[in-house]
Amino acid sequence: MLHKALFLDRDGTLIVGRHYLSDPAGVELLPGVREVLHRCLAEGYRLFLFTNQSAVGRGLFTLETVHRCNQRMLDLLDLPSPGFTGICIATETPEMPAVYRKPSPRFIREMAEKHALDPAASWMIGDMPSDVAAGLNAGIRVALIQPEPAATAPAGVWLCRNWSEFGARLLAGGA
Ligand SMILES: [Mg+2]
Repeated sequence: MLHKALFLDRDGTLIVGRHYLSDPAGVELLPGVREVLHRCLAEGYRLFLFTNQSAVGRGLFTLETVHRCNQRMLDLLDLPSPGFTGICIATETPEMPAVYRKPSPRFIREMAEKHALDPAASWMIGDMPSDVAAGLNAGIRVALIQPEPAATAPAGVWLCRNWSEFGARLLAGGA
């Protein structure tokens, strides 16, 4: 049996986007995130965190700093088991050869293979064009969550103003 999944951008999607966030005290969940992720887990979605953190590649802070901020986010989300099934922190800068850095679909493809994910029932959710491209490159579905949605998006991409809107559409089985 294939599983459904959500691949989740971090900054500006799960938490308030702050430039090169390095202080766990600056981690603030966006409205509705916690409720929707709890419901999606209950509905059987596997959750994956997929975040570009070029500040590590630039030497501005270490991977340990990213882990501390992630841990603060996990504490605030307070998800039941299994929580996140996989986490990808892509540390390359845009100038480096991309390995996992979005829009590379590599992480999504590896997780799809490893965890038997259904591309037609799996989503990349983000706030930036690189998130959209990563999802489309991987052949999964895509939702862009922005308070003021872009006027246009590639065909099939959901434009949502907030998590409540996305959750309502997804869990109503809308398409
Ligand atoms: Mg983002």
